[in-house]
Amino acid sequence: MSSKKNKDVAASLDEQQFQTAGQVYLRLLSYVKPYWFYFSLSILGFIIFAGSQPAFAVLMEYLINAIPKNDPSDRWLIPVWLMSIFAVRGLGHFIGSYYSSRVSLAIVHTLRTQLFNQLTKMPGYYFDNNNSGHLISRITFNVTQVTGAATEAFKVIVREGFTVIGLLGYLFYQDWKLTLIFLGVGPLIGVLVWQVGLRLRRLSAKVQGSMGDVTHIASEMINGYRVMRSFGGQAYESKRFDDASTKNTKQNLKIVTTSAINTPVIQFLVAGAMGFVMFLALTYMGTSDPGAFVAYITAAGLMPKPVRQLSEVNSTIQKGIAAANTIFMQLDEKVEVDSGSHVTTRVRGELNIKHLNFSYDGENAVLKDINLHIKPGQTVALVGRSGSGKTTLASLIPRFYQHADGDILLDDVPIQDYTLASLRDQIALVSQQVTLFNDTVYNNIAYGTLSDAPEEAVVAAAKAAHALEFINDMPEGLQTLIGEDGVRLSGGQRQRLAIARALLKDAPLLILDEATSALDTESERGIQEALEAVMKNRTTLVIAHRLTTIENAHHIVVMDAGKIVEQGNHQSLIALRGYYAKLHAMQFEEETE
Ligand code: ADP
Ligand code: MG
Repeated sequence: MSSKKNKDVAASLDEQQFQTAGQVYLRLLSYVKPYWFYFSLSILGFIIFAGSQPAFAVLMEYLINAIPKNDPSDRWLIPVWLMSIFAVRGLGHFIGSYYSSRVSLAIVHTLRTQLFNQLTKMPGYYFDNNNSGHLISRITFNVTQVTGAATEAFKVIVREGFTVIGLLGYLFYQDWKLTLIFLGVGPLIGVLVWQVGLRLRRLSAKVQGSMGDVTHIASEMINGYRVMRSFGGQAYESKRFDDASTKNTKQNLKIVTTSAINTPVIQFLVAGAMGFVMFLALTYMGTSDPGAFVAYITAAGLMPKPVRQLSEVNSTIQKGIAAANTIFMQLDEKVEVDSGSHVTTRVRGELNIKHLNFSYDGENAVLKDINLHIKPGQTVALVGRSGSGKTTLASLIPRFYQHADGDILLDDVPIQDYTLASLRDQIALVSQQVTLFNDTVYNNIAYGTLSDAPEEAVVAAAKAAHALEFINDMPEGLQTLIGEDGVRLSGGQRQRLAIARALLKDAPLLILDEATSALDTESERGIQEALEAVMKNRTTLVIAHRLTTIENAHHIVVMDAGKIVEQGNHQSLIALRGYYAKLHAMQFEEETE
C-alpha cells in the first residue's frame, strides 16, 4: 500500500520535473538573447559543417558513375573536390565551435556572477538554513554542469542535428519512400530518449546534492582541523567524507550505466532500420542506377554516428537542466527586503525599541517584549548569560533579521522605513565573531564603503584601537597580508582590527558585541579608554563580557531568557541584589582568583 503510494509520488514528481525541464531550458535560452549575433554565427558555422556531409555522398555518386565511363579528363577534380569539402567543413567547424563556446561561456559567467551577487543580498536566515558547501558547490560545480549542456551539448545538437537533417534531406531527395520507412524508428527512439532523460535528470539532481555534501564536509574539516586533531576526529571525518563521496560515486555510476545502455540500444534500432532499408534498396533500386544506390547507402551509413552522438549528449543535457534548475531556484529566492525609502546622511542616534518580540523559527521566542530607549549620545550596556538574546537584539537593529512584532525606531523612524544602505550607514558594528578577509591589514580596516578613507584616518583608527602596536611589528606593516580570515593573527589582534574598522566608520550608532572579550585585561583597559572617548559623542549599545568595562554606562540592561529582567545604573543594580549583583559577584571572585 505505502509502496504504491510512494510510486505515485515519484511519478508525479517526474511529471513536475518534466514540466519544469521545458521551462528551465527556455529560461536558459533567454540568456542567449544578448548574444543572438554570435549565436546565429555559430549556427551558420554548423550548417556549413553539416552541409558538407551529403557532399561525400555526392562525390561517391560521381566516382561510381565515373568508373564505367573511364574518362580521365576530369579525374583531377576528385582531389580538388575532396580538399574543398574539407576546407569548407573545417571553416564551418571553427566558426560553429568558436562562436557557440563564446556564447555558452558568457552564459556561464553570467549565471555564476548572478548567483554570487544574489548571495550578497540574501537575508540572514537563508545562510542559517543552507549549508555553505551546497551554496559553494552551486557556484563551482552546478555551473560547470550547465556549461556542459550549454557548450558541449549545444555544439553537438546543432552540428549533429543539422548533419542528420542534411543527410535525411539527401535521402528524401534520392528516394523518399525508402526514407519514410527508415524514419519509422524515429518514434521508438523518441520515447526511449524521453524516458532516459527523466531518469538522468533525477539522478543528476542527486549527484549535485551529494557534490554539495562533499564540498561541505571538506570545507568543514579544513576550517576545523584544529578541533578535529585535538579531539581525535580524523576517523570520524574520514568516514563522513568517504560516505558522501561513495554516495556521489554510486549515483554517477548510475548515470553512466543509464546512458551507456541508452546509446547501444538506439544504435541497435538505427542499425535494424538501416539493414531493412538496405535490403529494400538492393531489391528495388540497386540494378537500375548503381551510382545513386551507393550514394544512398553512403548517406544512410553516415547516419548512425550523428545519431549516436546525439543520444550520448542526452545525459549532458539532463545534467545541465538539473543544475540550471537549482541555480534558477536560488536566483528566485527573495533577497533582503529593502522597501524603505527614507534616506538620511546622519541620524542624531536616538534608538527606541518598543514591545519587540522576535523568533528565528516562528516558534521559539528569543526576544520577549523588549522595551528600551537610548537617547542620542548615551551608552547603554546589555548584560546577561549567554543565550539570553543579546546578540539577537543587536542584530535586529541593522536588520540582519526582520522582526515581525514590535517597533525599532531610529530617530523616530521605523528602521524598516530606511533604505538598507542608509540604515547600515548609520551603524558601526563590532560583532562577536570577527570576520577578516584575505587581504592586507590596511584593506581589512578600510573595508567596503570605507575603502576610500584617507590614509591618515585609517592609521588613526588603528592607533585608537591599539592595533598599530602589533601592526608595526609585522613585516610590511599595514600592507601585510593577513591570510584567510586572518589566521595569522591572535584573537585579540583580530578584535582590535575589527574595532579599528568600526572606529574608522565613525557612525552615529555604535554596537559593540563582546568586542573586547578576547583581550587580556591590560589591553582591554587600554582600548577601553579609546572606546570611551569614541562613545562620548555617539549612541552606543555595548554588550559586555566583563562587567568592569560597563560600570560607567549611563544605563545597564540585564537580560535573561529573552526578557529584560533588570535595568538601572551600576550602583542601583548592585543595591537591588538581583541578577546583576550575582553576575558581578561571580566575576569579581574570578578576577581576584
Ligand atoms: P547571546 O548573545 O545573549 O549569547 P544569542 O542572541 O546569540 O544570545 O542567542 C539567543 C538565542 O537564540 C539562543 O537560544 C540561540 O540558540 C538562538 N539563536 C541565535 N542565533 C540563531 C540563529 N541564527 N538561528 C536560530 N536560533 C538562533
Ligand atoms: Mg552573543
